[in-house]
Amino acid sequence: MKLKDIGTPVSTIAGVGPSLEKTLAKVGIFTVSDLLSYWPKTWEDRTRKISLSAWNSTAKVHTIAQVLRHDWFGFGRMRTLKIIIDDGTASAALVCFNRSFLEKSLPVGSVIAVTGRFAPRYGELQTSAFEATCLAKSASIDEFLDKPVPGSAVFPIYPLTAGLSQAQIRKIIGKALKEYCRGIENELPERIIEKRGLMQKKEAVFCMHQPRDIDTAEKAKYSLVYEELYHFQETILKRSEEHRKTAEEAKKSADGSKKSFEETLSPRQKQLLARLPFELTEDQKKVIYEMNIDIDLSNNQPDIPLVKPDDFSGSETGIKPDVLSESGSPEKNNNTVPAQFHMARLLQGDVGSGKTLAAFFAALRTVDYGGQCVMMAPTEILARQHANNAAKLLEPLGIKVAFLTGNLKASGRSQLLSALKKGEIDIIIGTHAVFSQPVLYYDLRFVIIDEQHRFGVVQRSAILDKGRQSVVQRQNLENGVMPRAPDFLLMSATPIPQTLAHTLFGDLDISIIKSMPAGRQPIKTYLTKEGHESRVYEAVREELRKGHQAYFVYPLIEGLSDDADSDTPDTTEEAGETSAQNRDAPQLGTPQNGGTTSSLKSAESMFAFLSQKVYPEFKCAIIHSKTEEAEQIAVLEAFRKGEVQVLVATSVVEVGVDVPNATCMVIEHAERFGLAALHQLRGRVGRGTAASFCFLVYSEKLTELGKSRLKVLHESTDGFYIGEEDLKLRGPGDVNGIQQSGYITLGIADPVRDKAILELARADIIESLAR
Ligand code: ADP
Ligand code: MG
Repeated sequence: MKLKDIGTPVSTIAGVGPSLEKTLAKVGIFTVSDLLSYWPKTWEDRTRKISLSAWNSTAKVHTIAQVLRHDWFGFGRMRTLKIIIDDGTASAALVCFNRSFLEKSLPVGSVIAVTGRFAPRYGELQTSAFEATCLAKSASIDEFLDKPVPGSAVFPIYPLTAGLSQAQIRKIIGKALKEYCRGIENELPERIIEKRGLMQKKEAVFCMHQPRDIDTAEKAKYSLVYEELYHFQETILKRSEEHRKTAEEAKKSADGSKKSFEETLSPRQKQLLARLPFELTEDQKKVIYEMNIDIDLSNNQPDIPLVKPDDFSGSETGIKPDVLSESGSPEKNNNTVPAQFHMARLLQGDVGSGKTLAAFFAALRTVDYGGQCVMMAPTEILARQHANNAAKLLEPLGIKVAFLTGNLKASGRSQLLSALKKGEIDIIIGTHAVFSQPVLYYDLRFVIIDEQHRFGVVQRSAILDKGRQSVVQRQNLENGVMPRAPDFLLMSATPIPQTLAHTLFGDLDISIIKSMPAGRQPIKTYLTKEGHESRVYEAVREELRKGHQAYFVYPLIEGLSDDADSDTPDTTEEAGETSAQNRDAPQLGTPQNGGTTSSLKSAESMFAFLSQKVYPEFKCAIIHSKTEEAEQIAVLEAFRKGEVQVLVATSVVEVGVDVPNATCMVIEHAERFGLAALHQLRGRVGRGTAASFCFLVYSEKLTELGKSRLKVLHESTDGFYIGEEDLKLRGPGDVNGIQQSGYITLGIADPVRDKAILELARADIIESLAR
């Protein structure tokens, strides 16, 4: 039997009574299968003797010792036993808090086995956390010196919960192993097990829980990780292979030739194309084409009858009735139901490559089918800009566009929500408010997430569920039709290196926009050391005189405040990165700064300086996350119209702001920003046809890491290259915060940590699919 099919209730294991059963349920153990796949998080190696003299802070002492004497300290109820022992290498004390009974079981003169974490305290080697067993009541330690320490083994360390001890869980897992382990079948082809030198499944399961030594345990884990990643990749590759075939079919026109881009356009998409003052780039056309194919497939597929809860007769058949639950994604359960198709695509394209427009084309297609679209952006500024653009481009085609943020006032809000629910709005654009609980859609069929990497945790299932909970889908459910999941598109300008994209985003189709709109010139990047800013200011003045505009970006809002501005949801990578940066950059007010705060420039102070002293002849303005909303809008609008030439800002302008006439980006204290942030900020310029410049002003106290970061930026404007370098500098532990994004939940494997294994598994599957 396969491990996952051992559905016997855990209560059938001897020793699992009703109360332990409840405790086990808390950690997700219901069946013997759950129990046997409750993997230890690590192992403790007690196979080697570690004498008292060899104590250290990481490994536990594990030795045989003689009990020399019993001391007592404290009075009354606090009276505490201290057992003095010697193992021939050193003497030490076992402090027995609340364990006075040890006086009897470990008497003076006895020889004991002891395991514990020792440390020097009060002039002696001590432990209060130890395990000890008596080996002989009265004996000489010499008789034991060449014997192994009893209880020598590798011990699995399990994750625990209140009411569950290591001893308990080890015991019941031991029993389950005895009874069930021998019958566990391999889930990998024999061929693969051999080729990769893996353990048989039953051996791996056994050795996870009761390994002879650490190497065996590691090998067992490797085998299981491999197996899991193999199946994970197999599902993904099979599904995408299937999808590729269907999509290929769909790309053919009646006479069998491949449809052209124009042929796939709907009448309204053609109108939109005609309204554009420029040509689409080849890559834009390509992704629009692919999305059109997908959206057609998704909207034209037949309804799938729902298996009613009464017909539901176990985990093997049909989908579970909890199809509407927030967390549960029916995808994992519908083995036997024909799979529903929905587009799941990651659109990567460098800053300024025109992703938004491609997304609008796709949204328009969905509206053509009568569905609603939502576009979520990480900042209000960006969301508003998208909404304005969408309104400009799409409203003339009869599309109703709305804008929603958390800040929207009560009356306007409820009106908007009710219009949305009635289906009177076609496209809604906003911040994460668009996914908040009170927001209900009439028929949400397309979800676009812009600057995906800025969202800490976007649960894919939550996105899909929002669509499944639309009014129409609920009606479907009532009529016995499986609710549909919406198509979705993630967009990111902080490229996830190709090498990682398929591991992290698994089953997403990936589209890339590489070509930039025609006429763009590469941005020139200059590194300038602090103290030479005046040269930068003069260079910018040249540009301003030509009628261009400039951004000046600072890490702080106000001189005295320590909080770097970040206009993003709390768990973003940039927020994390800024603070990581702050750690190796000089802190405000620390002695190394001479106790002053004046050495760090802020947006407020520099706004005063730049507007009065440097550029009195130009109009300057300031914007940051504490600026009033109305003011923010007014400032950006004035900048967009060219009424303001110099915009002093914090990282609020990092994502999305699109003013093609701006040709200068000055970032002071550049070492305080992460690589991705700098790349994004630089992407605010070079959006028109004029030459653009980015000046990175860095401090003298640049760390090595800071130096490498700025060098990467100086060398390249290629977001993909920068993404790869960023990954190298950060190490694989933190891939743009994506790791925590919850797209992929696996059991024992971690696609980032186990990337090398994943690559092997993937290669094996590609090979076997090709057979
Ligand atoms: P991204 O989101 O990929 O960084 P945007 O969607 O903000 O890029 O587009 C950047 C700018 O380029 C916008 O002003 C947009 O109108 C413009 N743009 C988009 N596509 C083209 C094109 N094919 N030719 C010229 N300009 C374009
Ligand atoms: Mg964008």
